[in-house]
Amino acid sequence: MPIENKAPGKDVSEEDLLTKFPLAAKKSPAHRSRFVVQGVEFGGELVPIFAGPNMVESEALIVATAKAVKAHGAHFLRGGAFKPLSFPYRSEKYTETREQGLAWLKRARDEVGIPVITEVMEERFVDAVADVADIIQIGARNMQNFPLLTRVAKTGKPVMLKRHFGCSLRDWLGAAEYILIEGNAQVILCERGVSAAHTHRSSSRFLLDLQVVPAAQEITHLPVVTDPSHATFWRPWVKPMALASIAAGADGVMLEVHPDPDNAAVDPLQPIDFDAFGRLMNDMHAVALAVGRRVRG
Ligand code: PEP
Ligand code: MN
Repeated sequence: MPIENKAPGKDVSEEDLLTKFPLAAKKSPAHRSRFVVQGVEFGGELVPIFAGPNMVESEALIVATAKAVKAHGAHFLRGGAFKPLSFPYRSEKYTETREQGLAWLKRARDEVGIPVITEVMEERFVDAVADVADIIQIGARNMQNFPLLTRVAKTGKPVMLKRHFGCSLRDWLGAAEYILIEGNAQVILCERGVSAAHTHRSSSRFLLDLQVVPAAQEITHLPVVTDPSHATFWRPWVKPMALASIAAGADGVMLEVHPDPDNAAVDPLQPIDFDAFGRLMNDMHAVALAVGRRVRG
């Protein structure tokens, strides 16, 4: 498909596909990466769901959440032990659990039997995170931390690359290319909201860029998932944006799920509880069927 190039440096040109990210670029319109992580296929009919708390707060919380989201059909447990918290101040509750959190995550994974996605922020923790994670998450803020991308790619583990909230599709694919060039082909892109003033809520910092889902899929073969929780920062908007993501063709959805959302240690306005997650799984499956995909089965 011919691409116009009216604003070089901002939009993607035909030349970019050949010289800037030839590995991330589609070779034909039907070209889609397909790979299986712990029995879960990406890039096919299934729309994998990642669910769990923002932070691995305690062993009890992560094990209980693992059980609940697995029972409702989630494919991966999410949760951060290493957290890029926007402001440096900490309290007893609002603090990273780091190596301890990784150990709790490993216990939840092994006891409950659900694969795990978790974030790494620094090169020095890559091996420790890779030891627990079935998919390593690169957070939005580290999207262009190229030494970290290279180091993570070299573990050979699947990588989910979140889009920075101020980056173009061109920069996002450039970052993905840093992983692909290391011979690691299991790269998942995640749209998690871009910075824009847009709503009546002062807590809303981000706008879920749903349009980037079909836009990215037009030019890259990599799976594109969305994270409505981080994008909306507001529980009542998570369901509509999750359903819209699937309708828009997303290849997966990441959702924050917490046993007691109001008392979540981080971002308490955005997680949904176990029951709401169960209902949303049914609704997401119904929407997926309407667009020739599935969430369940
Ligand atoms: C997260 O998924 O916990 C997270 C910090 O996301 P983001 O990097 O998109 O802000
Ligand atoms: Mn978060």
